[in-house]
Order: sequence, then C-alpha cells, then structure tokens
Amino acid sequence: MELDTLLDEARDLFDETVALRRTLHRWPELGNDLPVTREHVLGALEGLPLQLTLHETTSGIAAVLDGGKPGPTVLLRGDMDALPLHEDTDLEFESADEGKMHACGHDTHTAMLVGAAKLLSARRDQIPGRVLFMFQPGEEGGGGAGLMLEEGLLNVPHAADGSESPVTGAYALHITSNLPTGWIASKGGSIMASADQMLITIVGRGGHASQPHAALDPIPIACEIVQALQTMVTRTIDVFDPTVVTVGRISAGTTNNIIPETAVIEGTIRAISERTRAKVRDGIRRVAEGVSAAHDAQVIIEFHDGYPVTVNNPGSADFALDVAAEVVGAKATVRLPNPVMGAEDFSYVLNRVPGAMVFLGGTGTDRNPATAAPNHSNRVMFDEAAMVNGVAVYSAMALRHLSGPPS
Ligand SMILES: [Zn+2]
Ligand SMILES: [Zn+2]
Repeated sequence: MELDTLLDEARDLFDETVALRRTLHRWPELGNDLPVTREHVLGALEGLPLQLTLHETTSGIAAVLDGGKPGPTVLLRGDMDALPLHEDTDLEFESADEGKMHACGHDTHTAMLVGAAKLLSARRDQIPGRVLFMFQPGEEGGGGAGLMLEEGLLNVPHAADGSESPVTGAYALHITSNLPTGWIASKGGSIMASADQMLITIVGRGGHASQPHAALDPIPIACEIVQALQTMVTRTIDVFDPTVVTVGRISAGTTNNIIPETAVIEGTIRAISERTRAKVRDGIRRVAEGVSAAHDAQVIIEFHDGYPVTVNNPGSADFALDVAAEVVGAKATVRLPNPVMGAEDFSYVLNRVPGAMVFLGGTGTDRNPATAAPNHSNRVMFDEAAMVNGVAVYSAMALRHLSGPPS
C-alpha cells in the first residue's frame, strides 16, 4: 500500500486537529473520569463509520473502523488525561481550569488519534481488516489502560461475515519535548521503565531528646537506610540492566527536643527489566530490615506496584521505524540508544499484544530540544505542526500493519 499521500491527507486535516487540541488544552481533566473530554472526542468522531463502545468503569472510548476487506485488527492508542499543576505558558488557549494542565501532551495525542480516525475512514475501502482506536483516560497514574483491558477492550466482535478479527498489533505515539518537531523515535525491547513506590517505616521508641539512651531514635536509622540503599544499588545491580532508587521524602518528628517513635522513608523504584525490578525490591527489603535490626528497631516495608516495564516487540519497533522513515523521511527517524526512565501504562497493552510505543518530537525549530521545558513542566509547549506527522504515522502504521509490506 502506498503511503506517499498520507502527509498531504494529514495536512488537510490540520486545522481541525489543531482546533480539537486547543479545546482539549483549554479544558483539561484528570484521572479516569473525563466527561467533558469524552464529549469533545465523541463530537469530533460524529459522522465517521465507527462502532463506538463507551467504557463504563472509565471515560475510555473504543472505536472500531471496519475496513472494506476481512482481516485482523490493529490497535492505535491515544491517551486523554491531564496533570494537576498550574499552567504558565501564556498560550492563548492555556488552561481555563486552575490547577490542571495538559503538560504531557495528551491533548495532542487525542487530537491526532481523531485525525487518524478521519483519515483512515476516508480510506476505509482499502483497509484489509479493522482499526481499533483506543481513547484512554487515566494514564498519569490512574492505570486507565489496565481498566480498559479489564473491561474487554481486546474482545473485538466478529466481523459482519462471521470471521474472527483478533488484535495482532498495537501502537501508541507519545509527544516529547526532547526531540525536534515531527521526528519519530523508538527502539526494540524495553523503552520505558517500571515505576513502583516504596514506603519504609522505622519504628523505635519515643522519648526526651536529652536522653537518647532511654529511647530508640528512628532518625539516624532512617539516614543509614537511605545511604545504604544507594550502595546496594551500585554494588548489586548490573549497570547494563539498571535501576533508579530515589528517596523523595523523609518524615519524622515534630520539634527539636523530642525523639519521635517513627521515621518514614518514601521513594520511587524504576527498572527496565522485570528481573531487576524484582531484585531491587529484595535488596531494599534486606537493607531496611538489616539496618533496623542492627539498631534493634522494628521496620515495616511496603511496596506499591506501579506500571510494569514497557517492552516493545523488536519486530514491531523496527516496523514502526521503517514505516515512519517512509512517511517523514529517514533523517527525521531515530533509533533510540536507551530507554527512558519514565513509565507508561501502555505497557499493559504491550504485555498482551505485540506492538510498540513510539515517540514524536514536539519542540519547534525556534527552540532547542535539549533545553526546552520538558513534559510535565508548567511551561512546556508543544509545536502543533508535529501533529501532521503524528496523524500520518498513526495512519501509516495501521495501514501497513494490516496490508503487509509492499511486494
Ligand atoms: Zn506524563
Ligand atoms: Zn504522557
């Protein structure tokens, strides 16, 4: 299937894509309940030949486009939720809802996925199979992708002629300020990290600060644990299968002359393989228990599972990069040398279906991607021109996945 007109087709949709993106940007919503966003998306999809399933446990929307010929289903993901922070961009369409901002660019993802739905609907007759557009809430910690899977996202109904149409590939685009506008980047294997939380409570005995021997002070024990964790990481974890353990918060005590009963350490654990993810947890437990025992204190250790490692199927990542090179040019297509340590709940989809997470550059030519305000910043600004490439690449991955490479 020829892909050479896709950029022009995406360009024809640019004004509509920008308009939807700006509306979403102005009215950001958080978490899994995004009623206003959902209405805007449904409005934008109106009139397209899609079978819509409105999810009930979340504001997710599954929209299926039946092609003109039988074949499997390919999934395209766009996430829709915003972040809880004040926006400082001074854009004319900046957030009108104080304390909420589309600072991860999910507004662009949603608008691009709508654009791809329009583009592919217009080419419907040429599509051998189906496209499942996954409009997902709750990516920023809400686990929206997992909830959509639990609600049956992948149970695509049989085609009209009774044939099965299983989901055989899944692709997501994520805009990033780290790359020049319109560039496409990905890699096979691990591309994003797991993100778990640890909570360590050291339990001593409270008392008078002038008589530490009559109490059991948890604060120096907490300090020792924080230091020992970093030694554990560097001395026991393979540098080529790395982890990041960051203590982001320590809390203990109320004033200068009291020894408190407890001290609490909170932190995040990142890894890019499930092996290291498990190993570092064992290490944290060993260090916290061992140091506490050395000082005769009790310790309570809790882990809260976050998103798993996002692992691209190597073949799917190669495929996505090849398709992107064809659409946006080889010079704007990058094979990433390393994963990034952020986390993504598209990982749950990739644990079920082979596919790839793909980055889209979003920093305009007037700024430097190395120093531009990053994703999640109160000042991040994405170049809307990147959305032309995004719409075209989403569409191209779906078309080529279903039709196979040209013979
Ligand atoms: Zn984010
Ligand atoms: Zn994001």
